[in-house]
Amino acid sequence: MANAGAAAEGRRGRNRWWRSLAARATIATAAMLGALSILLVAIAATGTRESAERTIERSTAGAVDELAGRLAAGDLSPLEISAAAASGSLDYAFLESASGSIVGGQRPAVASAVTLDAVSETRSAGVALVERSRDFAHVAKAVMVGGEPMTLRAGASLAPAAAAESETIVRGVMAALVFIGLALPLLALLVDRVVAPLRALTRAVTSPGSAEAEVRAAGARTDEVGALARAHLAIAKDLAENADALHRLTFDDPLTHLPNRASLTSRLASALQVGEPLALLEVEVQGLSRIAAGLGRQSGDEAVRRAAERLREMATDWARESQFAEQRPPMVARISDTAFAVLAHGADAGAAGALAAAALAAFESPLFVGEHHVATTLAVGVALAPADGDEAATLLRSAAAAVSAARAAGPQSVRFAGAELNRMAYGRLKLEQDLRRAIENGELELHYQPQIELQTRAVSGAEALVRWRHPIRGMVSPMEFVPVAEECGLIEPLGTLVLAQASRMAADWHARGVSARIAVNVSAIQFRRPRFAERALEIIAAAGADPAQIELEITESAAMGDPAHALRELAPLKQAGVKIAIDDFGTGYSNLSSLTRLPFDVLKIDRSFVRDAVMAGGARAVVSAIMGLAANLGFETIAEGVETDEQLVFVTRQGCSHVQGYLFGKPMPASAFEVWYAERALTELRGLAERGALRPVLGEGLAAAGHA
Ligand code: C2E
Ligand code: CA
Ligand code: CA
Repeated sequence: MANAGAAAEGRRGRNRWWRSLAARATIATAAMLGALSILLVAIAATGTRESAERTIERSTAGAVDELAGRLAAGDLSPLEISAAAASGSLDYAFLESASGSIVGGQRPAVASAVTLDAVSETRSAGVALVERSRDFAHVAKAVMVGGEPMTLRAGASLAPAAAAESETIVRGVMAALVFIGLALPLLALLVDRVVAPLRALTRAVTSPGSAEAEVRAAGARTDEVGALARAHLAIAKDLAENADALHRLTFDDPLTHLPNRASLTSRLASALQVGEPLALLEVEVQGLSRIAAGLGRQSGDEAVRRAAERLREMATDWARESQFAEQRPPMVARISDTAFAVLAHGADAGAAGALAAAALAAFESPLFVGEHHVATTLAVGVALAPADGDEAATLLRSAAAAVSAARAAGPQSVRFAGAELNRMAYGRLKLEQDLRRAIENGELELHYQPQIELQTRAVSGAEALVRWRHPIRGMVSPMEFVPVAEECGLIEPLGTLVLAQASRMAADWHARGVSARIAVNVSAIQFRRPRFAERALEIIAAAGADPAQIELEITESAAMGDPAHALRELAPLKQAGVKIAIDDFGTGYSNLSSLTRLPFDVLKIDRSFVRDAVMAGGARAVVSAIMGLAANLGFETIAEGVETDEQLVFVTRQGCSHVQGYLFGKPMPASAFEVWYAERALTELRGLAERGALRPVLGEGLAAAGHA
């Protein structure tokens, strides 16, 4: 608008130059110069004429004096007067007697008009009397001719004086014209320079921000233009401040100083206009109004500010970690009393889900309001552009609809505006986010499931199974989060954590006389990494465990996929005394010949075969085939998932060396396992004692104690 105005102003200015101050000043000055020239020329012309006339008068008087002298001396006869006058450049001359009759020469018509009343008075003085008519200078002088008083009268035309005057006028006018012609451009230039600051000021006023340097320069002047420029600068400063204040009032939320809904809408609109993909999250903070009601308005405001801070920090952190938001961090706005919006430029469904998860995580700890800790929960609605709307209003509506769905789903929920995405994207992303934090916060722990040696019925070991005690969801199954950890690169820290914890447990048990080997699951991804063995041995050593107490479970497919790598990594482990078990055996498609070349110790028969073995003939056949193979290669075998006596009988008959399953014990926390282990040992002892088997070993005393 301002620019268009300035352009129009410019056009008008160009079109009507003659109306400008510069033009007017130039024209006025030129007119004044013209008038002055006319005056000067007039004065000069009049002066020229005056002096020319006086010259004519003087020469006429001189000529008359001379004629009079000659008449008086008798050198000249009155009859010769006309001829003498013509040679003396007089236009006429005649001699008049006292009675008025013409004695010599001729009296012309012009002379009769002249009075020359005072001639008689001059007679005695002997001077010539001069009088001027319109075109002539008339001179009269008294002379005595032949003893008679007479008057010599003569005259000369004043025409040469008039000619001199005309010439002066012509010359003067010419000179004035030349002068004005030369002075005019200079004058125009001068005036232009004088009004230049005014033009700069005009430009500065019509399009703010332009011509600033010129106005500043003008402001240094001491004249009226300087004062005007300074006034303008002061006004411009005030205006800018007012505009800022107005902008703040229009676009900022006064409580949190976050952009408000209007601001968000305008940013959204401009981003959507260029067709940029983006995610809009509406984040409803539940519990804020409760705080205001319970602790008062001031605390309510404080809580809103805290919530705003959390979101802003979350957005900054997220931008730092996510690759595409680095240049433009998400915009956090406050859009209603308890709702905020996060606008992430360039974010797709995945990124939006991660951002939503980050928001949830940011509100998991309570807000600090004064000395109170108050818990809040979130409902997050996600809308994606252009899928859920390509206009600001539609996208805002989509996000609002999504937040309603999230609210209905319960606290800490996220819903996408597009129903399909809800099912896919979010659960995974939230899990990933949570898992990352869980590893840092020590929410992961190990449970131990006993493994029994069938021949002795003794507890030979325990499989360490990771558990996630989620603060909201409770126990989360590894079946759910281990695959996620594998996909998002968290399996490395998770594996390290599990092995370290299991190794510490092994060392501790060893010290307390629990002689159980601990089996640790190794993900295929972990195993495939270079230097796997080296790192595993380092972790075991750092925990102070004897490698012989550790068994690593590697899935069949991971071990057989790249036998060369497997051999390279397993050899040093085996050498250090670590036992190697093949997990879920029978489910992969093993090249059986590789089995003979790799240094395994244990085959774990997958739960599915044990479960089906009692019913299905096929499974039965697989189990007996595995048993035959294991017997030939000298492997231990562990049947997994033994739940019933029937299954136990079956796997025992098949020649399994070990069993693991709910029939003996479920996975339990370390402390529960220790209690279980002690009780079982005691029961074993009692059994032995009852059968009298202990007598030869421990003597009568203990046997008696066993009975008691
Ligand atoms: P897996 O290695 O085959 O572990 C055995 C699974 O069978 C465990 O499930 C265990 O609780 C369950 N189980 C044991 N006895 C019985 C029984 O009698 N009946 C039935 N129905 N189930 C039984 P869990 O703990 O849910 O673990 C599942 C899988 O998660 C594991 O399968 C393993 O692949 C993986 N996993 C567990 N902990 C870890 C770990 O620390 N690291 C890695 N990489 N993977 C792990
Ligand atoms: Ca296992
Ligand atoms: Ca298994």
